[in-house]
Amino acid sequence: MPAPSADPDPRLALAELLGQLARAGASPLARPASAGGDGGAATAAGTAAATGDAAPADDAAAALAAVAAGVAACRRCPLGALRTHAVPGEGPATARLMVVGEGPGAVEDREGRPFVGPAGQLLDRILERGLGLSRREVFVANVLKCRPPGNRDPEPEERDACAPWLEEQIRLVRPELLLALGRHAAQTLLGSTAPLGALRGRVLERPGGGPPVVATYHPAYLLRNPAAKAACWADLQAVLRHLGLRPPVERTGNRSGPTR
Ligand code: SF4
Repeated sequence: MPAPSADPDPRLALAELLGQLARAGASPLARPASAGGDGGAATAAGTAAATGDAAPADDAAAALAAVAAGVAACRRCPLGALRTHAVPGEGPATARLMVVGEGPGAVEDREGRPFVGPAGQLLDRILERGLGLSRREVFVANVLKCRPPGNRDPEPEERDACAPWLEEQIRLVRPELLLALGRHAAQTLLGSTAPLGALRGRVLERPGGGPPVVATYHPAYLLRNPAAKAACWADLQAVLRHLGLRPPVERTGNRSGPTR
């Protein structure tokens, strides 16, 4: 791997630097131990100089933007050369819930945003009807930031190469819970090879610490298998309990369920 200073593209240099530091366990975007506080705020040493005395949440947002710039320039695995747009993820730096999918599909690859195709529309309904949350309130990301050709399953080396980007986002947002959508996201976040059926529907701790995980079906799977929506609804109860949210049906009287 070339030294960052030898790379002619400064965005690529940033991407490589972030990757090297993340692999070494010392990220310039990591939240200092003293940052603490509520609201998922983070202070990024790499951006503090640029943001001066900005509020911590603003620092986290700036650091997340730096991650997105790094992802946009990343060529750590072959998928970087095949994408139309990288899809780093999006959402508030103070989100209590981070939704993690598998990787961008065709629509996401074209638009550079996560979950904007039919599965994304179903995700919006799941969040709204199942959890009473709007998309604007959650951070949405994927394990892979670039689309695998033909939406094939991610290769293990691709997941390994891309993992530091997602870990950096988790470290910066500091959500209270990760909602893993589908087998690949669940296995990646939990460091497990167990089938989704053995992982879904309960709060599970990650081996390395950090926010715990609730796993459920990917919306694309639910589109193909509508009968699984009831199980997804049951899985969401663990999210509601962990976050201390009342079911939307209690708040709004809407009894139509999380999906349609
Ligand atoms: S999939 Fe991840 S590791 Fe591979 S090029 Fe894209 S951003 Fe980089």
